[in-house]
Amino acid sequence: MSDMPTSERARSAPDAVLRLADIARTYNPGTPAEVRVLAGVSLDLHAGEAVGLVAPSGAGKSTLLHIAGLLDTPDAGRVEIEGCDLSQASDRARTLARRDRIGFVYQFHHLLPEFSALENVMLPQLAAGASREAARQRATALLALVEVDHRAWHRPAELSGGERQRVAIARALANRPRILLADEPTGNLDPTTAEHVFTMLMTLVHAEGVAALIATHNHALAARMDRRLELRRGRLLPQG
Ligand code: ADP
Repeated sequence: MSDMPTSERARSAPDAVLRLADIARTYNPGTPAEVRVLAGVSLDLHAGEAVGLVAPSGAGKSTLLHIAGLLDTPDAGRVEIEGCDLSQASDRARTLARRDRIGFVYQFHHLLPEFSALENVMLPQLAAGASREAARQRATALLALVEVDHRAWHRPAELSGGERQRVAIARALANRPRILLADEPTGNLDPTTAEHVFTMLMTLVHAEGVAALIATHNHALAARMDRRLELRRGRLLPQG
């Protein structure tokens, strides 16, 4: 590898599924309430890897995930998904990219209360044009992978916290996104349940080959990811 010319190395390196290049974001610029949250964040995220985004509360993890997930636009910099710069794309292009290429998991499950676990995992697929049968098959398989298939017909209120979060993970992966963005996905769970849900999340990331960026305060869980990045003073640094 070391004998290989730089251009060859560049060609043989796997392409990033998600590339953030020099992202900057300041809230309330030019006012006394100005907060410079991101000051030149760059990141390459590859298929099948889980990257831990580690930082204390208030450091800008949610801001970074919102920008990566095309929910917010940076003041400067590029958000490239599979080589396509979407940071300044039309609302429609960004909405379609979110629907088809990005899955989100939040600290709170955000499942629809009037639908069953199975239906919650089917709905994003139906919205993207899948047939009912295809959506049901995919939802059933995903619920089995996260070991909640025996609760498929339960509504969220009839599930435990860990089960709800596992359904939320299944739903995030329903449309076979290339990217999974997770914001403290186990933050509301007790340590034993958090450990179980996290193990399922890692299994799914590797089984589905999705590129995952997972924000967490939990250093023990972060240590089990493929690599870790620390957000400090608006920049990303490799960690341990
Ligand atoms: P984290 O997810 O790491 O806790 P956030 O990205 O939520 O951090 O917030 C980073 C900083 O930006 C915090 O100081 C927060 O108060 C501030 N902030 C977040 N959103 C806004 C907003 N819409 N307007 C002004 N300041 C904000």
